[in-house]
Amino acid sequence: MTKKRFLITAALPYANGPIHIGHLSGVYLPADIFARYLKVNKKEVLFISGTDEYGVPITIKAKEKKIEPQKLVDKYHVSIKKSLKQIGIKFDNFSRTTSKIHSKNSLLFFNKLYKKNLFLEYENYQYYDNKMKQFLPDRYILGICPNCKYKKAYGDQCEKCGIYFNIDELLTPYSAISKEIPKLKKTRHLYLPLNKYKNFLIKWFLRKWNQNKLLFKNNVYAQVKSYLKIGLKPRAITRDLNWGIPIPSSIPKMKNKVLYVWFEALIGYISSTIEWCERNKKDWKLYWQNKKTSIIQFIGKDNIFFHCLIFPVMLKAHGSYILPETISANEFLNIENRKISTSKNWAIWLHKYLKDFPNQQDVLRYVLIRNMPEKKDTNFSWNIFQKNNNSELVSILGNFIFRIMSFLKTKFNCFVPVPNKYFKQDIELLSLIKIYPKITGELIKTYKFRKALFKVFNLARIGNQYLSKEEPWKTSNNYTYRSNTVLYISLQIAGLIGYLLEPFLPFTSEKILRMMCLKTTKTTKTTKTTKTTKTTKWKSLFRANCIIKPGIKLGKNELLFNIVQDSEIKRQIKNMS
Ligand SMILES: [Zn+2]
Repeated sequence: MTKKRFLITAALPYANGPIHIGHLSGVYLPADIFARYLKVNKKEVLFISGTDEYGVPITIKAKEKKIEPQKLVDKYHVSIKKSLKQIGIKFDNFSRTTSKIHSKNSLLFFNKLYKKNLFLEYENYQYYDNKMKQFLPDRYILGICPNCKYKKAYGDQCEKCGIYFNIDELLTPYSAISKEIPKLKKTRHLYLPLNKYKNFLIKWFLRKWNQNKLLFKNNVYAQVKSYLKIGLKPRAITRDLNWGIPIPSSIPKMKNKVLYVWFEALIGYISSTIEWCERNKKDWKLYWQNKKTSIIQFIGKDNIFFHCLIFPVMLKAHGSYILPETISANEFLNIENRKISTSKNWAIWLHKYLKDFPNQQDVLRYVLIRNMPEKKDTNFSWNIFQKNNNSELVSILGNFIFRIMSFLKTKFNCFVPVPNKYFKQDIELLSLIKIYPKITGELIKTYKFRKALFKVFNLARIGNQYLSKEEPWKTSNNYTYRSNTVLYISLQIAGLIGYLLEPFLPFTSEKILRMMCLKTTKTTKTTKTTKTTKTTKWKSLFRANCIIKPGIKLGKNELLFNIVQDSEIKRQIKNMS
């Protein structure tokens, strides 16, 4: 964490459908927590993503719906962007790969590699659909997986065992459009010679791993190691398609071809950065070509091959770029103990959740972070959702804040009391909570988001226990004397929770901080400028030895969470089946 600035990228969602909760728990929440943490601690951070809009699956989906591919991606770009924003994923820029900036930038990148003579170029046979009069790249073809023998593997990838292969390795292929058995026809393509970069990858990847185990998680390391062991083959980076970024006419024998979607989508991270920098009058090269920048990528585990092998090779081959410092991938989230499948409609769609549970973004965020598949696949069920909400958010956190705020209102007219003499347990408690910003931060920096959230939640548990033990509301001889101190200390805990929750539950954090009259990160938009009031750095929270000062009048008590009723859960379960 000694780097000057951070570029955080979240995998580009593919614009052929809406976002589901698996995407959130796998990529967008981890990336958002990390970016928010760095931002509240006043680091220079740029957090970017955008929709991935070219490639065969989009043309297939558009054909099914009898619309133009552009119309399809326009629709999903808007809906994906909107629902991610609503759930609180706070990108600095969310771009799209059909933008002009991206086409221009991808071709610049491509041309540089082409001029360096880096690509291999050769003719080989590819499947051709005689009935439809077109070549059949990638998902236009189905067949048996050469690895696990799954019967519905795509031309470039098996969804069952997760391996990627070249199209000529697929067994008994047939056309996904006409179902006909395709013919082999000669065509010419450009290839990225991955095999030539094996030593580079081993050196970069394995050495970095040995130097610092935090750089990549175990799952990423194991997968990359096995890819390197199997060996790498040249990968075609052009396609015979009409939906993509066309290869310039100056390149001979490449008429009617486009860049392979994976090749240009990876460049999409750079394009999104450029787009933001142009808007904000910054130099984008600071983020991609300066050694003082740390690039941290959050991806799905099905994208490891492209991010850990192809992208670093592309950056290295270009020559001007720095390499990512960390690539983080989670395992999968199952729903009701079944693997998420968009084709079988076994998913919980984000836009639907937002509609069914208005103003309850943080409930979903909480449940997904609490059950995040950091080390192994985990399960989401509606019963878990209800239980996590009712017995944790409502009973522990909501209850703690409600107890102190209502006590403060009835007995102290909303004014923060001046503490009296501290007892031994008060001093111990204060010194205990002071270490929470540090330990929570350390956990976030090492990508242990579940544990980090648990820690913050532990503060509410501690607060509740303290209140129950001290019973400041009980009448006794030294009633005011003692209750002043207990309430004062409880308020410090509540303020601390308000700050530390920001990366995880930003909506709740804002409410708590507002109640406590503390600084929030809320962005206020006026007609001319965007003004962001930044919170205090975690490190300096206890600088004045307290978070909330005595004598201040606090804000209105706001309800944080509601009980989720059985009827709602039953309705959701019924909708799933
Ligand atoms: Zn397979």
